[in-house]
Amino acid sequence: MSLEIQIEEFLKERGALKVGFATLDSLAGGPPSADLTYVLPEARSAVSFALPMDRDKIRAYLSKQSHVAHEADNFDTNVRSSRTSKALALFLEESGFASKRVVSNTVYRTEVEGWELSMPPDLSHRYVAARSGVGSFGWSGNIGIRGYGSAILLGTTVTAAELVPTGPEPAEECFCDMCKRCVKACPSGMFSLDEEMSVTLGGVTFTFSARSSYLGCQFVCGGFTGLSRDGKWSTWSPGRFELPDGEDEMMKVFLDAVAKYPRWPKRTDGDGGYVNPALAETSLRLTCGNCQIICWGDHKLTRENYRMLKRSGCVIQRENGDIEVLPAREAAREFSAMKPEHRRMYL
Ligand code: SF4
Ligand code: SF4
Repeated sequence: MSLEIQIEEFLKERGALKVGFATLDSLAGGPPSADLTYVLPEARSAVSFALPMDRDKIRAYLSKQSHVAHEADNFDTNVRSSRTSKALALFLEESGFASKRVVSNTVYRTEVEGWELSMPPDLSHRYVAARSGVGSFGWSGNIGIRGYGSAILLGTTVTAAELVPTGPEPAEECFCDMCKRCVKACPSGMFSLDEEMSVTLGGVTFTFSARSSYLGCQFVCGGFTGLSRDGKWSTWSPGRFELPDGEDEMMKVFLDAVAKYPRWPKRTDGDGGYVNPALAETSLRLTCGNCQIICWGDHKLTRENYRMLKRSGCVIQRENGDIEVLPAREAAREFSAMKPEHRRMYL
């Protein structure tokens, strides 16, 4: 049995939906985060795979029935991705090939100046997954699979083995129907509705939406704020900071929010959280991720997910840490009635 088939079986036994192989050649000419040798100098190939996330928990999260169920499932699936890629690295080592897992998230190139803000990954799981046909880019720039959408988590193992590369997904198999609900579900306004950007890997060009500001996503995805631009719904963050248009202005508001965040009372809606090395002293909560989890690769299901989010209400936090989900107007009224010193921490 070929090594590629053994790898595929190994990963599918551990829950992988799809498996693909990329090589130095098939990733050639890509951005720095497509360079396998950064992770393992003797690398020749990378193995990419995708794991599903729990859909019931996603819907409970989007509709604001439960914050912690999806947060925990998301973290667990990340851990599973990292453990599975490590197990595969050990299997390949035993077969005689130097190999290394790529941790699922929050590992950055810390030698890059300003990495705390730009967060350059050691290796982009997305680039390896798109080039090897594990999935394709959706308009959001997330990787998805037909029938699953982008509500998946990727994993990667880099190896010195010379694997036979698999090609990108044919365009007609792409899960994305350009509904643009990922754009509407993003409170930071990160994605352009019409403009594209692209990346070329091994001579193949992939396109997705142009980004307006990565800082906006860090602001929202970090959990510091979460009110939608029309004020009618929010993420799971009680922050109500307005996101200004200019990058300099945004940075000022962002730094203000980061300084206030540790003074927010401890949430009483369940334990959770993670530490991002870019802000190592602070425990962050998963409060967004909408662009990724809203898209299920099926027009009707994605539309229903967006409807749930839009009707989910707004989150506020009481002085004792209690998290309340209220209709937008009621949330705004309750928030205005809070003590000014408490309110100031959220705007
Ligand atoms: S939400 Fe719609 S536009 Fe966005 S990635 Fe999914 S299918 Fe594509
Ligand atoms: S995680 Fe949230 S804020 Fe960040 S790009 Fe996705 S939807 Fe926008």
